[in-house]
Amino acid sequence: MAEETQLKTVVFRCKACKHVFEATPGRVEAAPEDDDVHPWRYFRSCSQCGEEATQAHWARAAMKAWRKCTGPRTPEGKAKVRENLIGHPTPEEALRTRFNGMKHGLNAKVATYFPAKPDGYAFCATCNVDRIWCSEQPCCEKQTVNFMKHRAAFEQKNPKHLMGIYADFHAALMSTLSECLRQIIGDGVTLRTPKTYIGENDKVLIVKYYDQDGYEHVVHDVMAHPLFKPVSELITRMGISLSDLAMTPKQGEDEAATLGKLAQDGAAQESLAEFEERKVKALEDLSAMMARANAAKAQDPVLIEYQQQNGG
Ligand SMILES: [Zn+2]
Repeated sequence: MAEETQLKTVVFRCKACKHVFEATPGRVEAAPEDDDVHPWRYFRSCSQCGEEATQAHWARAAMKAWRKCTGPRTPEGKAKVRENLIGHPTPEEALRTRFNGMKHGLNAKVATYFPAKPDGYAFCATCNVDRIWCSEQPCCEKQTVNFMKHRAAFEQKNPKHLMGIYADFHAALMSTLSECLRQIIGDGVTLRTPKTYIGENDKVLIVKYYDQDGYEHVVHDVMAHPLFKPVSELITRMGISLSDLAMTPKQGEDEAATLGKLAQDGAAQESLAEFEERKVKALEDLSAMMARANAAKAQDPVLIEYQQQNGG
């Protein structure tokens, strides 16, 4: 494998003293088992304690994400890359090896939206990036990976690289939606509040009336649960109604209708065989008809007269 696929600089993390640093690799090992991700593993002695450090796990994960977005996935495609690497990297390979450049280039853009803020974002809670390292970066490492995936998808006009992101996003939305629904069901679809008015001396009073039997009744305002509207709007906009999911009885009927059509096609095929039979019979009848016509022609007085006059 050509050495041009190796990274020029690598983010290292020392297991011994937890120091994180970016440097040129001290030792590079071939990692054919990791061919899918990146066929090299990097080592360098820790700049702080001297122990041998390996590539930081989040940095390798970022590289893996990038590799997934830019490399060919089929065995044939991979074989082709291996071939082409000797001297001539493919555009995909070139894109892949631009990893560090791409990442650094994106930093300023990501920083506009997500400057590095260790434990400052909600998603930091589950982040595995070293916090000291994070604080020294211009922008959030994890968001950079998201930006990278989008960049790769747009450059290659291939939205499939974003599938994972949007699947997660959709799952989060659906969870939020069902949480809202549970809340509505818990509170009640309609909310009743006593009707009030401002009386003398700015006192808030409840609207009441007495029925013919002298019983007191409180007048209530009844309104739909305030979450109901946004939830139904979300359902429509996201296209997750039953009809959008092809789950309505109508769709079932349509399916049955389609099956009916297929059955009709079956009937049509049968009648085609019958038609063949009829055609054969018709042809037989036709020859008999022609024989009869010929016989009749022979006896036609006008034709006989004509043939005699013309010597036929
Ligand atoms: Zn160390």
